[in-house]
Amino acid sequence: MQVPFLDLKQQYLPLKEEILGAVARVFDSAQFVLGQEVAAFEQEFAAYCGVEHCVAVNSGTSALHLALLAAGVGPGDEVITVPCTFVATVAAVEYTGARPVLVDVDPVSYTMDPSQLEAAITRRTKAILPVHLYGNPADMDAILAIARQYGLTVIEDAAQAHGAEYRGMRCGSIGDLACFSFYPGKNLGAYGEGGIVATGSAERARKVRMLRDWGAERKYQHVLKGFNYRMEGVQGAVLRIKLRHLEAWTEARRLHAAAYRRGLTGSGLHLPWESPENRHVYHVYAVLTPHREELARWLSAQGVQTGIHYPHPVHLLPAYADLGYRAGEFPVSERIAAEELSLPMFPEMTSGQTDFVAEAVWSFRARPMAATA
Ligand SMILES: *Cc1c(COP(=O)(O)O)cnc(C)c1O
Repeated sequence: MQVPFLDLKQQYLPLKEEILGAVARVFDSAQFVLGQEVAAFEQEFAAYCGVEHCVAVNSGTSALHLALLAAGVGPGDEVITVPCTFVATVAAVEYTGARPVLVDVDPVSYTMDPSQLEAAITRRTKAILPVHLYGNPADMDAILAIARQYGLTVIEDAAQAHGAEYRGMRCGSIGDLACFSFYPGKNLGAYGEGGIVATGSAERARKVRMLRDWGAERKYQHVLKGFNYRMEGVQGAVLRIKLRHLEAWTEARRLHAAAYRRGLTGSGLHLPWESPENRHVYHVYAVLTPHREELARWLSAQGVQTGIHYPHPVHLLPAYADLGYRAGEFPVSERIAAEELSLPMFPEMTSGQTDFVAEAVWSFRARPMAATA
């Protein structure tokens, strides 16, 4: 049996006719950039998240950049985030001219450790940017309590958390602003690049709407220094169709995660934590093992593809050496980077495939020489 890490084609095939029809309608309408489909998607995704306003942009990174700008973040400011994330989270802070200040993640949830926030806050701190890593909500109540106390803006990096819920609230509706990515491999993926900013503030939504389109309120009336961050019409049309399936896809991911938990308990892997209060949407099924490279090779030899998210914490990437952090400073993030292995996870997987992956993990434990490993 072959178990790919991800199979976007399997998701496309049953939707093919509907999607090609919608793409044809966009072309016929000649609304190649923004337009009705994008506007309708913004409304539908806002309703899905339980938030007042959504503004669609051309990537999750652009969403982060504009959310930070709408929060008033700029040169001389500091934004607190985590090193255990995709590089875009930290990169977007620097795009604004602000300085990323890092705090470690919690060893159970792998998301921002709120107990480290106060020590990181200075007079320059403007915002806190937690990441709902792997689709697991960050501890928003604790983060918001500290943010309110110090007058800071909270921006959720929900790029991996479409449909995730924290204590009954959808991710994207909890902080002051939130950012999603629709990169094809995300839980809700466009057929190209895409992203969105969600917010309950009409004023911030208006600012993001202007910034994505050259800072103009009306054509050629450039009120702000803006960007070309507009979403394409085709992506809006594709995302509208796919959004109708997101709940079913998310439930399928959660069933696969439950099957992994049953099949892998006792196998020697450290399995992901899921709070009974929250809805983890398993963008990534992340296990930890000190034998990562060997296990990945073993699984690959049996036809099971795996991934690593991410092999280096941001503070140890060469590009961010200038932040001045050292190895050993964020031990939890460093351990996750050293030991994390992502098992195959996509809605269309079969129970035969999750069972096969679990058996392949158990066979690794029973392998010859295992006693000396
Ligand atoms: C994917 C991702 C981003 C960036 O989104 P793009 O659409 O690829 O620009 C940002 N943050 C996190 C946590 C992500 O996973």
